[in-house]
Amino acid sequence: MLMMVLCMTVLAFAPVQAASNLKVLSSSADVSFPQSINFKVSAQSDAKITEIRLQYTINMVSFAQVVNEAFVDFQSSTNVNAQWKWDLTRIGGLPPGTVINYRWVIKDANGNNLTTPFTQVKFDDGRYTWKSIVQNKVTLYWYQGDQTFGQTLMQATQDALTRLAGSTGATIKDPVRLYIYANQNDLLGSMIFPQEWTGGVAFTSYGCIAIGISASNLDWGKSTIAHELTHIITAQVTANPYNGLPTWLDEGLAMFNQGPLDSSFTASLNQAIQSKSLITVRTLSSPFSSDANISYLDYAESYNIVSYLINTYGKDKMAALEATFQQGATYDGALQKVYGFNMDGLNTKWQGTLK
Ligand SMILES: [Zn+2]
Repeated sequence: MLMMVLCMTVLAFAPVQAASNLKVLSSSADVSFPQSINFKVSAQSDAKITEIRLQYTINMVSFAQVVNEAFVDFQSSTNVNAQWKWDLTRIGGLPPGTVINYRWVIKDANGNNLTTPFTQVKFDDGRYTWKSIVQNKVTLYWYQGDQTFGQTLMQATQDALTRLAGSTGATIKDPVRLYIYANQNDLLGSMIFPQEWTGGVAFTSYGCIAIGISASNLDWGKSTIAHELTHIITAQVTANPYNGLPTWLDEGLAMFNQGPLDSSFTASLNQAIQSKSLITVRTLSSPFSSDANISYLDYAESYNIVSYLINTYGKDKMAALEATFQQGATYDGALQKVYGFNMDGLNTKWQGTLK
């Protein structure tokens, strides 16, 4: 009986063992933040290895899972060391902490195929020694400043979440990573193509925020956290594969959750009211101007429009508007359904409130 079992076992496994000596000896991924990731593999077989492909996916919010593939250049041999450098300048970079899943697909001249299991590599910014705190799905990372500095910013984060829930009903659904760089220079150094005015960035598809905050600009930092965090949470509650939000709503909510409007924005709004040069709600649905002076007005008006909607019609209507956008509604359609007027109607009503 025992013999019988052994025989059957050998028979069952023999063809697989005989098929191939193709194997991976080592595999690694080295991160050079923020420029590149270098994937390396050593493999050997009885026959010459003829093809090596790297397949990888990026952990991010996506409605279609994309497996990227790179063909690796190497000298065909029975024993190969190959590498493929992923140049991130080509895709504009990745935020810190992004997880990449990768595997190797290898072929030899005998027609053998080998696919390794997926392995993860974390795209960490290893140029700094990060400290971290976790609270209510938010992980806050920082490297300069003591524990109190980190806790102060985490408190500001939690306060911003509370304010947002109070005014719009939106609450955090998925984890958020918040990277606090020591200053603006360090922040810009973490990006591939930084714009020099960037103080903070929300990578909404990655649930990640990066901001440069020092102890000397703490108030600005807290306010910027509230702004960027609102972009992330709003994206979480409205995510759909069809349609984004009108810019006035996205930026208006972020401004509203920061707190009272700064005087430079108020001045810009007052001037436009006096000179009857307000921009319409419909125009503000498109991406904002890159001209700094016009852009002040874009943000100031967006703040004002969102304030009008929340203060006049309440939190539940704003929650309903976000839920309607989450179903992929059009800008006019969503407003019409929830408030009973479209963008032009909103423009008339809102402008009517301005003196
Ligand atoms: Zn913004």
